[in-house]
Amino acid sequence: MGVSRKKIPWAPKIDYNQCNLCDGDPQCFKFCPHDVFTIEKEPRKLVVNKPNHCVVFCRSCRRVCAPNALSFPNKAEILKMIKQERGF
Ligand code: SF4
Ligand code: SF4
Repeated sequence: MGVSRKKIPWAPKIDYNQCNLCDGDPQCFKFCPHDVFTIEKEPRKLVVNKPNHCVVFCRSCRRVCAPNALSFPNKAEILKMIKQERGF
């Protein structure tokens, strides 16, 4: 997109009031092939460890989250930001 990935704030956000770690079998963690999530120990907790590994505008892991605990930035706003960065 002509903009450094680090400047694009696209990554999942975890609602810890909803995330139940899929009763011990975290589906988003298993699903994403890009090493975005990790599981912290003590207390066991899902975290977004590498937000810049998330594919810009991908939201696929949201589909595997039964409690709907994952959200993403507003795509239109991010597109606007990218265009501004590129000088359009
Ligand atoms: S899929 Fe949803 S509930 Fe399961 S670990 Fe991920 S965020 Fe938590
Ligand atoms: S949105 Fe896509 S790339 Fe990003 S964490 Fe989810 S599955 Fe991985």
